[in-house]
Amino acid sequence: MLTDQLGRPFRDLRISVTDQCNLRCRYCMPKEIFDDNFPFLEKQELLSFDEIETVARASAAVGSVRKLRITGGEPLLRKNLPELISRLTAIDGIEDTAMTTNGILLPKHAQALKEAGLNRVAVSLDSLDDERFQEITGRTMRVKHVLDGIEAAKQAGLGVKVNMVVKRGMNEEDIVPMAEHFHGTGVTLRYIEYMDVGNANGWKLDHVVTKKELIRLIEEKLPVDPLPPAHAGETAERFAYRDEGGEVGVISSVTDAFCRSCNRARLTADGQLLTCLFASKGTDLRSVLRGEAGDQGLKKKLEELWGARNDRYSEERLSATKPRRKLEMHRVGG
Ligand code: SAM
Ligand code: SF4
Ligand code: SF4
Repeated sequence: MLTDQLGRPFRDLRISVTDQCNLRCRYCMPKEIFDDNFPFLEKQELLSFDEIETVARASAAVGSVRKLRITGGEPLLRKNLPELISRLTAIDGIEDTAMTTNGILLPKHAQALKEAGLNRVAVSLDSLDDERFQEITGRTMRVKHVLDGIEAAKQAGLGVKVNMVVKRGMNEEDIVPMAEHFHGTGVTLRYIEYMDVGNANGWKLDHVVTKKELIRLIEEKLPVDPLPPAHAGETAERFAYRDEGGEVGVISSVTDAFCRSCNRARLTADGQLLTCLFASKGTDLRSVLRGEAGDQGLKKKLEELWGARNDRYSEERLSATKPRRKLEMHRVGG
């Protein structure tokens, strides 16, 4: 089996299909930087559906990639996305296809995505309060738009999780109301510790509300018990509500890094392959795809890249002596 320098298999590929977004979350694409003059990718720079499918197929063949996640920017801004989903879900070896989205466009697309074979969506929502939601997302959309998206995904029969990034001073007031809102609904809420992805968001360790604090706050209202991981390489630590109201999770990549079991690579919308969320640069697969090397050349490149991989940024973060230049989240896809 193909493993990296730390013995980790290649199981999960996250595919960004666009670097554009209809929101401007402060911690991801602050609107002062990502304004009308921002040099987003040109259409011809994006990988085509054929090219994305080729990379996914090669990843399933050389590694043991079984899971795909579609992300962005906002993936639902990419035209004809269900067509891509149906091509990806038909690849030999792919068992699970998910998408991370801000949910705004789900009412329009959920049914077609389900019919194309998508299994699950993770919808991002950081507040239930309209004013705070607009303050965080930098746009005039309302919480109801996201809740409607969640409902549409449920109605279409997609599995639904909600991801909430928690940042001190931004949305601590929402921690408990979000747990109460999704408790007993069949939708699992996952809190995400605010991360130092990219360099545009001015991250500081003080901004992180830790897993410990999160669980303590929830427990005051809704007691929980820890659950074992559902599968190897799971990023979220899971907890069950003691009153059988379902589960809640915490993704604690800052205070409790999980690099040891990290089995994922990321493909940017313009075809850079990244072996870590905090990479400074990727490897250009687009030129391989558009060059002479063919399928065999691409597979060889993937094997070389994964075989050489030794990333463990989150485990090294707190002892790092100098800052690293990193790619921004809207490019990397989360
Ligand atoms: N636009 C889609 C969305 O928001 O779900 C997909 C792309 S977004 C970059 C993927 C995920 O990354 C979202 O759940 C978002 O909240 C999360 N994210 C972005 N910046 C983050 C940061 N600095 N720390 C933690 N999570 C972050
Ligand atoms: Fe857009 Fe998602 Fe980034 Fe928010 S987190 S700005 S919705 S890409
Ligand atoms: Fe994986 Fe890099 Fe995150 Fe560690 S820091 S879990 S290696 S993506």
